[in-house]
Amino acid sequence: MVKLRGHHLICLHFFVGEGYDMRFIENLKDVLSKAEIDAVEVVEGIDDVCKACPYNKGYCAYSEKAEKEIKEMDDFALKILSLKVGDKKFWSEIKIEVDRILELWKFYCKKCEWRRVCKMPLIRDF
Ligand code: SF4
Repeated sequence: MVKLRGHHLICLHFFVGEGYDMRFIENLKDVLSKAEIDAVEVVEGIDDVCKACPYNKGYCAYSEKAEKEIKEMDDFALKILSLKVGDKKFWSEIKIEVDRILELWKFYCKKCEWRRVCKMPLIRDF
């Protein structure tokens, strides 16, 4: 079963094949393939995407404040998806929810450095 933290339950729907490095990208493709055929378990902190990230130090070390900011983003994502840590859900069900709350998600997406490569035009061009 794929384990994903809150904000990855949303971001991964808009992945277009780019990322920090090849290891990260290949792992992300693998995670998405598995998510399509199995349920996803919601976890807290480092997840199956973070595991191959160059900023994974057992916590998110992307920047000085990243751990706190990512945690807030995870909490926000779970809140708007009406999910909690430990829940299990199918990827297709999560996608329906993500589409529904996209307007709210723009609040965070507009600050995201990956916005320029996001396949969602509404977010990329915001
Ligand atoms: S930047 Fe942080 S939250 Fe994002 S994948 Fe890397 S460790 Fe995980």
